Amino acid sequence: MVSFRFLLTRSFFALLGLRVGYWRQVVEELWRKSDEEIMQLHDTCLQEGMPRSANGQIVASLGDLKVAQTLTKEGLRQQSNNSSHKKGFGRHTSGSTGEPTSVRLTKAELGRLLGVRDYCFRHYGIKLGEREARLWGRVDDSLKARIGDLLLNRETYNPGAADGVRQVKRLTETRAAYIYGYVSLLLEAARLMEANGWRPPKVSCIICTAEKILESQKRYLARIFNAPVVEEYGATEFDIIAFECKDWHLHLVNPWLIVEWVNGQCVITDVSRRSQYFIRYVIGDTLRLTRCACDGLGGRFVVEELEGRSANRFVHLSESKKFHASEFSQMINQYQNEYGDVFRFQIEQNDYTSFSMTVSPCPRKGQHHISDYLRENVKKKHNANIDIKVTVTADSGLLINKSGYFIQNIDQQHD
Ligand SMILES: [Zn+2]
Repeated sequence: MVSFRFLLTRSFFALLGLRVGYWRQVVEELWRKSDEEIMQLHDTCLQEGMPRSANGQIVASLGDLKVAQTLTKEGLRQQSNNSSHKKGFGRHTSGSTGEPTSVRLTKAELGRLLGVRDYCFRHYGIKLGEREARLWGRVDDSLKARIGDLLLNRETYNPGAADGVRQVKRLTETRAAYIYGYVSLLLEAARLMEANGWRPPKVSCIICTAEKILESQKRYLARIFNAPVVEEYGATEFDIIAFECKDWHLHLVNPWLIVEWVNGQCVITDVSRRSQYFIRYVIGDTLRLTRCACDGLGGRFVVEELEGRSANRFVHLSESKKFHASEFSQMINQYQNEYGDVFRFQIEQNDYTSFSMTVSPCPRKGQHHISDYLRENVKKKHNANIDIKVTVTADSGLLINKSGYFIQNIDQQHD
């Protein structure tokens, strides 16, 4: 049934001239095209827009893009300061990376981004504008936030707050179409629902954003919420970049974005943007793309490995020996599958042999068990002895971190 709040939200979008439905149809049509046709579209967009790269060169074709200089966050800030284009919509983030980013968008630009979002949501039977239950680290009670929630048909919960139990109880009674939120908060909500024997709300899907999620955690959430669990990969600058199909492939979904590897960094170009130029923009995340036969959603390219800030990605065992931090997440995923357990974690490296790990809740077999397991695995795979001190925390807020589950405290020059 179409609710009044849904109509209000869609009217609000229409009033702003955002044409979400139109752009969603454009996205659908574009994804029916071949790779060659999409490349042709990219080439045409560049030809028409004549965007400039970081050093001011005009990029009028895919050929120009191939040799264009990359753009850093600092470069984007300078570009924005110099630009006379101050009209339109603003999106701002204080930045989990510590670097604030300010994004300006015209109606058509914001419309496209929302069209992509609507396209992704439809895959799960949701229309953008239907009621959203959002699990967020802080609940903003200001009037502005309340009006925003009303217009965007959204309700917010914080399972990590002092009255988290009460908030999660309220969540079980929600009539929202879907739940959207941080992985750590979704896990906390699921844990509380399981512990209290509460029935989950009836929702079409659970969308996880901002944090890395393990497969074992996804299975757990799907079981407790009795709904499909979907991972979203997005950024303030581009909104949704990749979204999971029902088979858990993280497909690239915005047809105007080009994702490439340049000098070991992941860079993204948005061929459609004019109010700011995103030409080979260094996104700061590490991701590996592979081609996938699945045509369930978006393009054929899927994100295979996604890590947070690239500076954090290596575990150093000595001056010369290192391994990728994702090995830790694989080990823990394996551990959780093996012992049928689910917990959140964050590992910090303090020096070559010493690590501290925070978990919540305590693993069923105890904190020494997981510590021994990791130590033995590192010994077996890398022939190195490490020490891992495990601390159990009840404060779920401690484990909310966009940069993921690994923090590197050793001098970054090793990276
Ligand atoms: Zn797929």
